[in-house]
Amino acid sequence: MSGTGNGRVGVHAELTRRHRAVLPDWQALMYQQPIEITHGEGRRVWDAEGRCYLDFFGGILTTMTAHALPEVTEAIREQAGKILHSSTLYLNHHAVELAERIATLSGIEDARVFLTTSGTEANDTALLLATTFRRSNQVLAMRNAYHGRSFSAVGITGNASWAPTSLSPLQTLYVHGGVRTRGPFAELSDEEFIARCVEDLEDLLAQRRGGVAALIAEPIQGVGGFTSPPDGLYAAFKEVLDRHGVLWISDEVQTGWGRTGDHFWGWQAHGANGAPDILTFAKGIGNGLSMGGVVARAEIMNCLDANSISTFGGSPITTAGALANLNHLLERDLQGNARRVGGLLLSRLQAVAAGLSCVREVRGRGLMIGVELADGSLASAVTEAARENGLLVGKGGRQGSVLRIAPPLSLTVAEAEEGADILDTALRQAEKQAT
Ligand code: PLP
Repeated sequence: MSGTGNGRVGVHAELTRRHRAVLPDWQALMYQQPIEITHGEGRRVWDAEGRCYLDFFGGILTTMTAHALPEVTEAIREQAGKILHSSTLYLNHHAVELAERIATLSGIEDARVFLTTSGTEANDTALLLATTFRRSNQVLAMRNAYHGRSFSAVGITGNASWAPTSLSPLQTLYVHGGVRTRGPFAELSDEEFIARCVEDLEDLLAQRRGGVAALIAEPIQGVGGFTSPPDGLYAAFKEVLDRHGVLWISDEVQTGWGRTGDHFWGWQAHGANGAPDILTFAKGIGNGLSMGGVVARAEIMNCLDANSISTFGGSPITTAGALANLNHLLERDLQGNARRVGGLLLSRLQAVAAGLSCVREVRGRGLMIGVELADGSLASAVTEAARENGLLVGKGGRQGSVLRIAPPLSLTVAEAEEGADILDTALRQAEKQAT
């Protein structure tokens, strides 16, 4: 790593040592030489050594519009000069306006919005609402899914790599369909795949005693490696779920806000009639501020009969910043930009992969692109080489074998090409090492 002298390298090594001594072992740091990010602008971030990186992971899908977006910074600064927190016991005009905007955008009728501090808290709340509304602690989740790290979210997570306990307050049954390319139905056509997954769901529901409260699903699995079923699956599921009185919770923590280019929410890829009963969101809306939330029809949202506030959910600071961020996203049509630039980036990466045996598949939608490697052990070699050349990408999927590309939605064509060139080099290096 190039530094500004041995003194700085020593400071960095000492910070890494202190981090490892005091933070939990399971709070993983990326890169052999962990990066200390000090600031960002647009689609780029800088580390404490002064090195600049193109951020193809957008924080961790948190920087939705751009790093240090002036409107968001100004909204936070203005609010911080007045008051940081006043509690949800009082009126907050930013929270009301943000909730109104999100209710309208959600596609859910008679929508109510509850603001939280994270995606986990949003999903936990959605599960609380669904199980209370349906008076059942049985839920359905997709295999290979990830929904957060509270006890209930971890308890329903479909892949043990992301679930540090097998204990759960909920009884969870796992449904096929979230991953198109693996499992018993992988060889089928899209229509047959959907038909078999629906059959499997019907079969599961027919065997249950007592009602099932909800199915929770990510329209595109995020941590699971940017993998999705054929379009139409969740609308077909919705029809079955409605018949059985089971609510559908669409976890849009990664797929919301136009990231997938063609649609504002991931569920919309499955058909306009398939609106979920409950939708959860987080990550990008705050552009890095700690913000999440739940949208549900009033009858579901209002089923709790005890006070259940979130101390910091919907605080003046986060709602001011999120509102400025959302306004920028809509005014600049960043969803359209994600579609256009994401389409170019996907084609470019598919062309790179065509000549390489180390890449199994390049897939994605908008600016949510996964590069699945044939061998998971190569992923670190690729991310380390990319980092050396000034590009940050994420990892996910089983054995961490999928490079996850999810830059801020304002990515330019020139930046997409720059990042693709760096990935091209990094993948070729990994290919050479592997052979
Ligand atoms: N749901 C999905 C789909 C996620 O990807 C994540 C986090 O990665 C969560 C929920 C949890 O969100 P948070 O980390 O904000 O609690």
